[in-house]
Amino acid sequence: LKKPNVVVLGAGYGGLMTVTRLQKMIGVNEASITLVNKHDYHYESTWLHEAAAGTLHHERVRYAIADVIDQSKVKFIQDTVEKINLEEKQVLLQNHEPLTYDYLVVALGFESETFGIKGLKEYAFSIANVNAARQIREHIEYQFATYSTEEEKRDERLTIVVGGAGFTGIEFLGELVNRVPELCREYDVDPNKVRIICVEAAPTVLPGFDPELVEYAVNVLEKKGVEFKIGTAIKECTPEGIIVSKDDQVEEIKAGTVVWAAGVRGSRVIDESGFEAMRGRVKVDPFLRAPGHEDVFVVGDCALIINEETNRPYPPTAQIAMQQGEVCAKNLAVLIRGQGELQPFKPDLKGTVCSLGHDDAIGVVFGKKIWGAKASVMKKVIDNRALYLIGGPTLVAKKGKFKLL
Ligand code: FAD
Repeated sequence: LKKPNVVVLGAGYGGLMTVTRLQKMIGVNEASITLVNKHDYHYESTWLHEAAAGTLHHERVRYAIADVIDQSKVKFIQDTVEKINLEEKQVLLQNHEPLTYDYLVVALGFESETFGIKGLKEYAFSIANVNAARQIREHIEYQFATYSTEEEKRDERLTIVVGGAGFTGIEFLGELVNRVPELCREYDVDPNKVRIICVEAAPTVLPGFDPELVEYAVNVLEKKGVEFKIGTAIKECTPEGIIVSKDDQVEEIKAGTVVWAAGVRGSRVIDESGFEAMRGRVKVDPFLRAPGHEDVFVVGDCALIINEETNRPYPPTAQIAMQQGEVCAKNLAVLIRGQGELQPFKPDLKGTVCSLGHDDAIGVVFGKKIWGAKASVMKKVIDNRALYLIGGPTLVAKKGKFKLL
């Protein structure tokens, strides 16, 4: 009997969780499993803001895929997926021959979404992957280094604009306010010359978060120097900075660095492959399959699931991506063996913690509000748990966060 070919695209939280669970469930002779990823490493997307600010080295954020897969059962191909040919059940890769699948898992994650705002793609950075994070860190450092040597000082070099006061924007600001004093010392820059501005179009910071916790976060960040411009929309990004508008008042803010943290979408491969999708996200069936394609599972940020209680999509999170990976692995095992029943996916949301630097945070965990040191410790427990679920205690020992405060 021919072994079914299982192909998993993407080694983020969703893809790696699927593979590491599946490799434990099935024997070598039951299926051929192939994992494709752009790089030979996995990165913790939820830690990228730290690498971008320069508060955590980028090597700490990533680990080798080879360290967590069982190579007797899983073949790894390092390549970029270009397109999925749904009719022929083929995956087209940039540098390898096309792959044929019996079952496919699409876990290609998120990309930055600029909503067509002029100039953002060209002139703003986004915290999208390890190399993008490294580029932001280097760019900010370059601005400080250049300022300290140039004869005619251009103060706007030291202005950093963060577009978006959602989860990613706030977590990045939390790291930046700790990093900037270090940069000032390192490059002999007067801290009063530095401006960190957060521009948010919505009427509040962290929309949807508990208002008391939001107030706490805003106070912490404002005390450390962040200027919030709320209810203010970025109209354009230029080589010199941004143009914003509030109540029909247009203002130009000159800035050496603009980081766009206000929107993500699913992978462009989803759109290019002809899936029915919204911004690269496929509305999956209860078993995580793409409608009309029972052999194709979609997990993580490329999947869209509606929360029946609010009638809105669940936000794309690592927490959900990992839970989906677990269910997807179980469902693949059922299909491979032709035994048992498919399990529907039900998110089990344990809470959310938003960091405000390495020693402070806010969150709601198991329905309880937490903030300050307690929340910060909880954040590290969550970060270590993600490592544990994929790579067990060895990975936690290697990459875990143990300096709790
Ligand atoms: P990803 O983790 O994005 O992984 C996708 C993988 O696919 C990557 O390895 C990528 O290199 C690879 N890939 C992409 N395109 C291709 C291609 N064409 N060919 C080959 N390989 C490809 N969520 C939380 O739950 N809690 C948090 O605290 C949290 N904080 C966050 C902080 C930041 C700064 C950011 C950016 C996100 C945060 N998130 C958080 C969201 C979370 O990171 C995402 O929801 C999660 O990463 C989605 O997982 P995924 O498996 O779908 O994709």
